[in-house]
Amino acid sequence: MVLIQQVFQTLLGIFVLESDETSLAQVFADHPGRVQDLAQKVAGLTISTLGMSKGTHLLRLLGPKFANWLYWWGIPSVQFVWACFVMDAWEYALHRAFHESRWLYNNFHSHHHRLYVPYAFGALYNHPFEGFLLDSAGAAISAAASFMTIRQTIVFFTFSIMKTVCDHGGYAFPPWLDPLHLIFPNTAEYHDVHHQMQGLRYNYSQPFFIHFDVLFGTRMSAEKFAKMKKVNQKFKKSFKDANGSSEEKVVSNEKSLPESIRRRGKENGNDASPDDIVLAQGKNGDPTVTLNGETYRAKAGIAT
Ligand SMILES: [Zn+2]
Ligand SMILES: [Zn+2]
Repeated sequence: MVLIQQVFQTLLGIFVLESDETSLAQVFADHPGRVQDLAQKVAGLTISTLGMSKGTHLLRLLGPKFANWLYWWGIPSVQFVWACFVMDAWEYALHRAFHESRWLYNNFHSHHHRLYVPYAFGALYNHPFEGFLLDSAGAAISAAASFMTIRQTIVFFTFSIMKTVCDHGGYAFPPWLDPLHLIFPNTAEYHDVHHQMQGLRYNYSQPFFIHFDVLFGTRMSAEKFAKMKKVNQKFKKSFKDANGSSEEKVVSNEKSLPESIRRRGKENGNDASPDDIVLAQGKNGDPTVTLNGETYRAKAGIAT
């Protein structure tokens, strides 16, 4: 599957994204002339906003190389960050849809979730349809929405694949070894929660930031997840002790759990605490089980 995805991405690159004419025109464009134009625009805007004396003072402080820096680094950096945001929005919406729709999950996304313990090579272990829609089309749309040149898309695509591989690497490296974890809150540890059976309904965000999880109450930190599992074990034990039954009936209640968590999240202005989640589920449910039997089998690869 990983290889099929590589073939798809290569074909997409050759036949859709790559154009010799466009790339040559971009590489051999009149860059000094464009820098000159930009310098004039910056000067005009600064003086019309701040007035002649303050504007001239600021332009002197910025120095003659400012437009050059803006052209080669400033604007491309903003484009890069914007592309990350667009990609995050695309991935969150579709990734969540692939979980919320049983049909989409069973037929496509369950392939990726056969990896209970992610490893780097499995980062792109996706059904080809999902790989095309989420990763390939998502990257192409993000690059187009941020008006990137072909050289910029090469950097952006490589970086986003590197980040995805890193998130599935299975190791939470210290920041000096993996500075990406310092910059982006979406780490290997964070995505690992999503790959665990009990964490499937959390941490949909990928691959850069986690603001959509925070916004929609689906964020679960690794610490909180571990604590929730512990609280739940205690809860199950006390339930078993009280009922004297060794066969505890655990009913998955996938509809009421996320809804109650979301409601509580909104009321508190934050997401629910582990105790809240366990309490919300009540004695008939298991807060760490978020799927029914059918999707469980799909995840295990039995129904696909
Ligand atoms: Zn998923
Ligand atoms: Zn994954």
